[in-house]
Amino acid sequence: KQKRFQAELSLPTQTQDGKRIKLFLNAGLLSGIESIAEGSDGIGLYRTEIPFMLHQRFPSEKEQINVYRKVLNAAASRPVVMRTLDVGGDKPLPYFPIKEDNPFLGWRGIRLSLDHPELFLVQLRAMLQAGGEGDQLHILLPMVSNLDEIDQTLAYLSQAYEELNVESETNITRPKVGVMLEVPALLYQLKEVAERVDFVSVGSNDLTQYLLAVDRNNPSVSSLFDSFHPSVLRALKRACDECDEFNLDISICGELAGEPYGALLLVAMGYTKLSMNQASLARINYLLRRVSHEYLSEVLNECLAVSNAQQVKAILQRFIEQHQ
Ligand code: PEP
Ligand code: MG
Repeated sequence: KQKRFQAELSLPTQTQDGKRIKLFLNAGLLSGIESIAEGSDGIGLYRTEIPFMLHQRFPSEKEQINVYRKVLNAAASRPVVMRTLDVGGDKPLPYFPIKEDNPFLGWRGIRLSLDHPELFLVQLRAMLQAGGEGDQLHILLPMVSNLDEIDQTLAYLSQAYEELNVESETNITRPKVGVMLEVPALLYQLKEVAERVDFVSVGSNDLTQYLLAVDRNNPSVSSLFDSFHPSVLRALKRACDECDEFNLDISICGELAGEPYGALLLVAMGYTKLSMNQASLARINYLLRRVSHEYLSEVLNECLAVSNAQQVKAILQRFIEQHQ
């Protein structure tokens, strides 16, 4: 089957009734990044914490520029969404130990960056310098839970931008900026988010964890961690509708986008940009090329009307069997 999926990878992802969907890659490691970017519309999530985790100390500005440049080059001229450091939670830095009782509700993502402007500015400067000219670079902020964090970040970004325009010979372009939609509170402030940034990217892994109050890595409650929970689905649908209303570009980079059932539902909701691991790319492309968006909308309505995740998945299973 993998062979059949692979054979169509270079063909555009388009539903039977002509709806174009863009598929992007989630990346973190540099090895093989050139070949992974192939067959995708770009890199929808580059997790910068991965190179940080592989270091023995905070990488210098120069070291970061080198890494980010490699990522941008690998995507040729296609867009790259580079996320600022998202450590804390389940992602520790060996040289920056954090001890807290509730790491997932604690010092992680943008919270940590804003508390350490000396580190944050180095990362923003490195991204801006790696991005050079053109509009390839997009900067994404993790774990945003209030608007103030966006405003503070935009101020740091302006500072980095102005510093570099004085210091450097080359013309630095202002990148598009977006936030991860992964803390539920932000779902209710999308209008204000739209006034501040260019795009949002849904982190369905954390959004599920925080909506359902289920630790995404705790095996004792893993059966409760389910992105097909009707409340999660309604939240995802609502986010897509509101972004449409507020003219805010939306994509999704959580695991759900790379799962066949998940991709079907997301496309039915109106998502047109899905970012996933390389292993899912060919399969999702193959699947979406065989379904009709209009028919999927009916399936979505059915899914939104049932009362639990098992029933949602049963509906989708039936749908996929009919399309084999
Ligand atoms: C997410 O939370 O869905 C996400 C994509 O970010 P991460 O898995 O890196 O927390
Ligand atoms: Mg996340």
